[in-house]
Amino acid sequence: MPITLKPGREKSLLRRHPWIFSGAVARVDDEPASGATVDVLSSKGDFLARAAYSPHSQIRARVWTFDDEPVDAGFFRQKIRAALDTRDKLQVTSSSDSYRLVYAESDGLPGLIVDRYGEALVLQSLTTGSEFWKQTIADILLEETGLSAIYERSDADARELEGFPPVTGLLRGEISNLQSPITIHEHGLKFAVNIAEGHKTGFYLDQRANRLRVRELAEGRETLDCFCYTGGFTVNALAGGAKSALSVDSSAGALALCRENIALNGLDAARHSSLEGDAFQLLRKFRDEGRAFDMVILDPPKFAPTAAHAEKAARAYKDINLLGFKLLRPGGLLVTFSCSGGVDAGLFQRVVAAAALDAGADAQIVERLSQAADHPVALNFPEGTYLKGLVCLKR
Ligand code: SAH
Repeated sequence: MPITLKPGREKSLLRRHPWIFSGAVARVDDEPASGATVDVLSSKGDFLARAAYSPHSQIRARVWTFDDEPVDAGFFRQKIRAALDTRDKLQVTSSSDSYRLVYAESDGLPGLIVDRYGEALVLQSLTTGSEFWKQTIADILLEETGLSAIYERSDADARELEGFPPVTGLLRGEISNLQSPITIHEHGLKFAVNIAEGHKTGFYLDQRANRLRVRELAEGRETLDCFCYTGGFTVNALAGGAKSALSVDSSAGALALCRENIALNGLDAARHSSLEGDAFQLLRKFRDEGRAFDMVILDPPKFAPTAAHAEKAARAYKDINLLGFKLLRPGGLLVTFSCSGGVDAGLFQRVVAAAALDAGADAQIVERLSQAADHPVALNFPEGTYLKGLVCLKR
C-alpha cells in the first residue's frame, strides 16, 4: 500500500524528518486503513520510508522506519528496548523511580508516550499509528519492564486532530485505589502523584533535574514558586533549606497535593504558605505591597503550543518575568521557564531580557536549563525541544 509524494517533496524525508504533510502527497493507493503501515515513495517511485497512515490529520503519515524492514511486533520490541536502554545508560533510573520511558518521535515511536511512575506505567497514544499498534506495544512494555500495570491517559488535545476521542482507564493489570495518589521517589524526595487525573500523565517529569538544581540553590532564601502545581519546586526549595516558601497556583487541588507533598517529606510546614489564585494578579499584588523574595520560580503552562501563538505568548512571558524581577532582592535568583514549543530559546531569552530592562533590573544569566535527559530530542526532530529555563541573578 504505497503513498507517492509530489516531485521535490522528498527532501525532508531524505533529512530523516518523520512527518509527511498532506500537501506533499500526490497519490494514495488502495485506501489504507487509519494507522495502517504504508510505503512512502518518491515521485519517481523510489522507496523512502515506511509510515503510519493518518487519513484525517494534516500530518498524513508518520515514519516508523527509513529502512526497508518489516514493521511488526519485533520492530516495536527493538525500539522499546533501545528507549529503555537509553534511560538506563543516562542513569535516570538510578535517581528516581519515575521517568519517561518513551518520548514519541525522539525515540523513533511517533505518537507514543510512556511514563513510569513507581510500579505503574502510564501510556499516552496520540496518533493513528500508536493507536493501531497499542495492544502489541502494551504487551511488549510489560514484558520488557517486568511490570504488570498500564494506565492509559490518551486524553491530550492532539488526539482530536487525528480523529480520536479521548480514552482513559486501565489498559493492563490492576492498580489498587486509583483515585488516591501513588507515591513516587525522586532524588531522595517523595511525591504524591495522581496518574488518573493529574496534569500530563500525572507529574512534570521533565523538570526533575531543574527541581534538584533549585534545591541546591535555595538555602537561606525566601522563595516564591508561581504556577507550583503539586509543589515540585516548593518541596525541593524547602528540602534545600529555604528560609520560607510561598506557593501560588490557580488550582486548589494542586495546592492541596503540594501541602501533602511537604508533609510526606517531613518538611517544616511552618516555613510554607500557599495562595490560590491567578499568578498574574497575585504577582502584581505582591509588587504593590512591596514584597520581596530571594528566589522567584516561574513555570507557567504552555502559552504557545505553536509558533502562531508566539507573539501573544511573548507578552504573557514578559508580564510575569517583569514582575518576577521586580519582586527580587539584589542577589536574588529568577528561575524562569517556558514549555511552549512555539517560543524558541532565542525568543524566550529576548523576552526575559526585555522584562529585566523594563523592571530596571541589572541581571545576568547564570545557568540555562532544559527538559530532563529522559525527554531527549532526536536531531532529526527538533520539534522535540520544548522546555527552556533561565536562571538569572539580579545584581
Ligand atoms: N511547576 C510545576 C508545573 C507547573 S504546570 C511542577 O514543576 O510540577 C502549570 C501550573 O500552572 C498548573 O498547576 C496550573 O494549575 C497553573 N496555572 C495555570 N494558569 C494559572 C494562572 N493564571 N495562575 C496561577 N496558576 C496557574
